[in-house]
Amino acid sequence: MPNTQEFEVVIIGGGPAGAATALTLARADRQILLVDKSDGSVFKVGEGLPPNAKPLLRDLGVMERFNRDRHLPSYGNVSAWGTPTLHSTDFIFNPHGHGWHLDRLRFDQMLREAASKAGTEVREETRMVKFVQVNGGGWQLTLEEKGKQAQVYCQWLVDCTGRASRVARNLGVKKSSEDQLLGFVTLFRIPDTALQSDRDSMTLIESTSQGWWYTALLPSERRVVVYFTDTDLETSKLARSVEGYTSLLDQTQHIYARLATYGYTLEGTPKVASANSSRLETFVGDDWLAVGDAALSFDPLSSQGITTALYSGLKAGEALQAHLSGDSDPLALYGENLSTIYDSYLHNRTVFYSYERRWLQSKFWQRRRLGN
Ligand SMILES: Cc1cc2nc3c(=O)[nH]c(=O)nc-3n(C[C@H](O)[C@H](O)[C@H](O)COP(=O)(O)OP(=O)(O)OC[C@H]3O[C@@H](n4cnc5c(N)ncnc54)[C@H](O)[C@@H]3O)c2cc1C
Repeated sequence: MPNTQEFEVVIIGGGPAGAATALTLARADRQILLVDKSDGSVFKVGEGLPPNAKPLLRDLGVMERFNRDRHLPSYGNVSAWGTPTLHSTDFIFNPHGHGWHLDRLRFDQMLREAASKAGTEVREETRMVKFVQVNGGGWQLTLEEKGKQAQVYCQWLVDCTGRASRVARNLGVKKSSEDQLLGFVTLFRIPDTALQSDRDSMTLIESTSQGWWYTALLPSERRVVVYFTDTDLETSKLARSVEGYTSLLDQTQHIYARLATYGYTLEGTPKVASANSSRLETFVGDDWLAVGDAALSFDPLSSQGITTALYSGLKAGEALQAHLSGDSDPLALYGENLSTIYDSYLHNRTVFYSYERRWLQSKFWQRRRLGN
């Protein structure tokens, strides 16, 4: 194919899943291209990294670099869930120690840099706009960087495009959802004139009649505050405007108090993010596979998104490396592994939501309770 660059594997999406897949394959000396459309300047939600991420960061060989980046240590969660009073779940007894609140852009960038150092060609601010399967195997992709289009060819295409699942969906693979959860994401800042600074890096969670909230202190000393509710509920319409969002926030007890104590003020307007539980009907097909959120996505209550993205990236990389070396079984096992993770996640999700029994008539809680 003249004038077309060739790679063994092209990975679309440079979040944790894409970077972990690229890192694993590049270390096995495969020719990899990692493509991401973002320019790394827009705030990215998803900052809570639990302690069990540590072995994954070690396996990926990025622990030292991660420690140098000085993400904010987090020592657990405090939640008013099922009761109006706060209960804490401390990481103090966790064998891996504390977790972190990440500077998410720095974290994703660090992983892409590690992939690049291992030999991956990384193209940022580059969007995959089109792909076609070539007769006889492989793919031809059209990539766009700053308005300029280029063609590349690869044997394998890896979908790491996050919840959009761009590759798999374009191939007609169905994605099934358990719910219609949306997150309304805001940032709060302490005014320079504040008398005390906020040092509380526990994640605070509070359930309300039509959804739930969390807030986490970020390394930038801002607080991310997110309200979760279902798309079809009135609260979802309300949460889109600053006035509506603030009126819902005023109805919380602990989240409101945390922000008021330090005089936090809202920056900007609520940004809407899909937060439902969903999975592709299949994770592996002819010359393609899906990894991370593109394959299966979780309710953020689980705090499992980033670790699963890293884990599935590592496992996808190992399985594809084995496949390219002539052993096809690991790819099927990779798919089975993801199905098992999703089933066990769904079970835990139902159990956890069932702890909340204060709003028996609320649609939001009825939909999630055990037996419904
Ligand atoms: C409100 C909210 C709060 C969350 N909080 C947490 C939390 O506290 N802890 C946690 O573990 N998880 C959390 N998550 C989930 C977590 O953020 C995701 O699970 C994680 O980011 C998945 O990583 P990924 O690499 O699969 O996808 P992503 O991080 O979404 O990366 C996908 C990448 O693909 C790129 N891309 C997409 N389409 C194209 C294209 N056509 N061409 C090129 N590039 C493309 C995007 O630019 C993006 O960088 C939260 C999610 C939400 C919505």
